[in-house]
Amino acid sequence: MNNNKIWLSSPHMGGKERDFVTEAFDTNWVAPLGPNVNGFEQDIAAYLKEDVHVAALSSGTSAIHLALILLGVGQGDEVLCQTMTFSASANPIVYQGATPVFIDSETTTWNMCPVHLEEAIKDRIAKGNKPKAIVAVHLYGMPYQVDKISAISEKYNIPIIEDSAEALGSSYKGVKCGTFGAISILSFNGNKIITTSGGGALVAKDKAIRDKAIFLATQARDNAPHYQHSHIGYNYRLSNISAGIGRGQMIVLDDHIELRVGMNTFYKELFKAVKGVRVFKEPTEDYSSNHWLSCILIDEKSAGFSAETLRLLLEEANIESRPLWKPMHLQPIFEKAPYYGDTVSEQLFKTGLCLPSGSNLSDLDRLRISKVIHNLSL
Ligand SMILES: *Cc1c(COP(=O)(O)O)cnc(C)c1O
Repeated sequence: MNNNKIWLSSPHMGGKERDFVTEAFDTNWVAPLGPNVNGFEQDIAAYLKEDVHVAALSSGTSAIHLALILLGVGQGDEVLCQTMTFSASANPIVYQGATPVFIDSETTTWNMCPVHLEEAIKDRIAKGNKPKAIVAVHLYGMPYQVDKISAISEKYNIPIIEDSAEALGSSYKGVKCGTFGAISILSFNGNKIITTSGGGALVAKDKAIRDKAIFLATQARDNAPHYQHSHIGYNYRLSNISAGIGRGQMIVLDDHIELRVGMNTFYKELFKAVKGVRVFKEPTEDYSSNHWLSCILIDEKSAGFSAETLRLLLEEANIESRPLWKPMHLQPIFEKAPYYGDTVSEQLFKTGLCLPSGSNLSDLDRLRISKVIHNLSL
């Protein structure tokens, strides 16, 4: 039996990507602008369906950075941020000289807990520093509690930066993720649901915000024949080559989501008979996850094995798996940042595992994964 590495989530090309890239070469649009960039932005906006405007950027991280700048976050400000996430949700807050204030998760979607969010807002206001923005994340493709988080954002008039890096194609009450924030962001990094090798996007309902994002992303050049600058600029635009890959990936996005959902179904079946293991799933029909990554929680007492034991067994079989995101308030870099919550995210981190979830996994791959699980539960 072949023993090639089975990855958590690896790039999966659909076939048309090369045509768009070749066209870019043939027309010499080898630059951080061009027809593929415009086309990719239009494809994303059309996919999200809502009336939104898209700026294609060099990464999801740069999109979050620009979102913070556009919302006026600067030195000495505070920004509320989901603690259970990838560090890229929080790092740009520090780029701006601001302080992240971390919020625990709730147990149904693993995302920002509305109760602790409101508690934090009240307390920060009482301490004299009203937070400037909320960074809320749809982890592993699972939408956060959109109605509750949005209601708090409106009540206190604090805008949401919706980190939809992992949730392109997910939806809440039939509306696509990536359209719920004052500003939303997407990522097309190599391990995401679609990839441009590296890339991201900023999504805004207000066209002026999108235009300002592009202005800042292209070195903030004023309208003059010479190089004139009245703002600090950035070099954050997506290249026309990368955008060509993105246009090809948009064609197969929905098919690839279906395959990832299929992986999730496979795990639900596989773990049905395994005591103490719970596959992460949508809490109600309001939620639709793209199942970017399929995750499980292991109750060591009733399962008889820990997440780490399973991870090592999979590794022995050359199968990649990974603990859930380690909460930011437990990271050395954010040791001093304020935190509101209990131990929900910490518990998730201790007992969870992400499993191979790619849209390109084969029946043989699934068989190899099954074997490890079956041996374990004998
Ligand atoms: C991947 C990711 C990002 C950053 O996107 P890049 O394109 O890698 O810069 C931000 N937030 C979350 C939750 C992510 O998973």
